[in-house]
Amino acid sequence: MTKLIFLDLDKTLIGEDYSPEPARPIIEKLISLGFHIAFNSSKTFKEQLYYAREFGIDAILIVENGSAIYFPKNVMDGQNSDAEGFERLKLGVDYGVVLRELDRIADRYCLKYYGNSMLEEVIGFTGLPEALARLAMQREFSETVFRYCSDGFVAGLEGRGFRVTRGSRFLTVTGQVDKGTAARIVLERFRQKGNVFSVAVGDGENDIPMLEVADLAIVVGDLDYDAVHVDKIERIFELLS
Ligand code: MG
Repeated sequence: MTKLIFLDLDKTLIGEDYSPEPARPIIEKLISLGFHIAFNSSKTFKEQLYYAREFGIDAILIVENGSAIYFPKNVMDGQNSDAEGFERLKLGVDYGVVLRELDRIADRYCLKYYGNSMLEEVIGFTGLPEALARLAMQREFSETVFRYCSDGFVAGLEGRGFRVTRGSRFLTVTGQVDKGTAARIVLERFRQKGNVFSVAVGDGENDIPMLEVADLAIVVGDLDYDAVHVDKIERIFELLS
């Protein structure tokens, strides 16, 4: 039986300071238990690639809240691969489409997001170290709204075909995508090769669609969702062994 785990990053695998270090033993333990790792986060491809390389793993990267799936070529024997050695399956809309929408309404709702923020402002809103802030600004499909003075823009965006979802820190604006649809596609690929046992771990509202598609759903923290809850990710191993 193939084992596959979907991991949210912010406030699930990665803590307040964005350091990969506390997560390293978790990843090592999951690998030793035979799990394939899939990150499933609103973070960009470049940010997720940074963490995968820090951990030295060939993770599947579901980026920008389900907007695209990057399959490492040597994991899924994909036919096409780009310069970074991944096969990309695009599910969302291009970043420019999202940005144009937000730029139109930014003044009215006092919106701040990557596309209208300077590097220093991004660091201020997110607390990201500069190197990671630069990777977060390399967006392909979605925007992250750091600040607004009224949430009236949400209904307007949804009426025009966008999705606005709440992560553990901010709102994310995407096309018609979510973490669950992308996770399901990854699961289908693995199921073509045999039985799969799947786990999903998350902490935020935007993780719920992903939690719904896994055999075992684990919530880190106090999200109001009917699944097993743990207070920190280290404790998932009590449920996996
Ligand atoms: Mg999170």
